[in-house]
Amino acid sequence: MISYELEPQQQQVKEIVHWFAENEMRPISMLADKLANVPDDWLRKVNNIGISMSTSTLGEGSKSEGQKKERQGNRLAVIATEELAWGDAAIALTLPGPGLGGPPIQHSGTPEQKQRFLSIFSRDEEPRWGAYALTEPEAGSDVSGIQTTAVKTKGGYILNGQKIFITNGKRASWVVAFATINKELGRAGHRAFVVEKGTPGFSCSRVAHKMGLRASETAELVFEDCFVPDENLLGGEEYYESKGSGPSGFRVAMKTFDTTRPIIAAMATGIARGAYEYTIDLIKKEYPLHGRQFQMAAETLASIQQSIEAARLLTWESAWKADLGLPNAKEAAMCKAFAGKMALESTSKCLELLGPIGLENHIVEKMYRDAKIFDIFEGTNQIQQLIVARHLYEPFGIRV
Ligand SMILES: Cc1cc2nc3c(=O)[nH]c(=O)nc-3n(C[C@H](O)[C@H](O)[C@H](O)COP(=O)(O)OP(=O)(O)OC[C@H]3O[C@@H](n4cnc5c(N)ncnc54)[C@H](O)[C@@H]3O)c2cc1C
Repeated sequence: MISYELEPQQQQVKEIVHWFAENEMRPISMLADKLANVPDDWLRKVNNIGISMSTSTLGEGSKSEGQKKERQGNRLAVIATEELAWGDAAIALTLPGPGLGGPPIQHSGTPEQKQRFLSIFSRDEEPRWGAYALTEPEAGSDVSGIQTTAVKTKGGYILNGQKIFITNGKRASWVVAFATINKELGRAGHRAFVVEKGTPGFSCSRVAHKMGLRASETAELVFEDCFVPDENLLGGEEYYESKGSGPSGFRVAMKTFDTTRPIIAAMATGIARGAYEYTIDLIKKEYPLHGRQFQMAAETLASIQQSIEAARLLTWESAWKADLGLPNAKEAAMCKAFAGKMALESTSKCLELLGPIGLENHIVEKMYRDAKIFDIFEGTNQIQQLIVARHLYEPFGIRV
């Protein structure tokens, strides 16, 4: 059994990050949404404080009971992330750091690559970002269909193709980009490259205007005869060759999701909790003034609260397994699917409870818009259900 109580270190992280979310993020939340950007001076200040979206590594995958080693990184990450998203999910995604690009480098990079690409995120310098570029116009849910090509040449690879919807893709110092060395090989042909900003042939063609998470940059990237040196092939040649049909860029991409989906679920939980807490506070103050019965709202609020707690527990379970180095793909998909849907339903119910005041330039209206994206990115809800179904039925020989 595990304990549901936070340990002292976890509690401390939660409190510090919550303080930051309440006092530093909330005051600029509506402004950032309106500007569709996070002010540079704020990002510089925050960089010095050293708060970032912490995405931890999954570890080495499956381990036997005897090999379990207790780590805290994934649990601390989901606890902190829920608080950050309570403050503002779009700003949380824009906090300086390696972002979704961190996990693939952590779990698949060579020691030299980890040092080179992860050591740039130090507090005292200018804020810096990393990014993760998998999605293409013809390959989102169906990752195996990526069309960006990587052709071997002397000393490196030539990349050609396009990536869309890349979080922090324009501002990133480097992007972990996925490409195929041979489309006929399918997933086995996938490779992951770290492409540095300023590399000739690598550019940003557009930043998307979205209904939600407006302050978070979502970029389209283009590779045109872009030369990437061998030393930027993630994991190096041996990583892909060592086990025959073994590791491919596809596996790198999938392993990343096992770490990042709990983080996304924690964000969705934080948004829902933010909307819920705002709504219940207002109702407590306003309802008696207008002679309305709190009881009318109580049932809805209770069901929101239950859903938030259920999402959090699924998320914690997934992060806990990751900390122990146990396979968690099913749990990661479950918490992501549940929390994404829950955030949208909860924020929608909060808006209904608030009535017309919630509709115009209101933080709960913004949270509702922000929540929508959580059942799309990091794999849509339908795809998460497919992953869960595969884990449930394939052991019985039923192909999903
Ligand atoms: C704000 C934002 C930020 C993002 N950030 C990043 C990022 O940093 N890096 C990155 O690589 N990507 C990023 N994405 C892309 C995101 O992960 C994809 O949009 C998502 O995976 C869905 O892919 P798609 O857009 O191609 O949709 P599609 O795959 O075309 O899906 C369209 C619809 O078809 C359904 N569908 C597709 N296949 C199946 C199936 N087999 N069975 C049932 N239903 C199916 C989907 O569930 C969905 O409802 C971001 C997206 C957004 C909106």
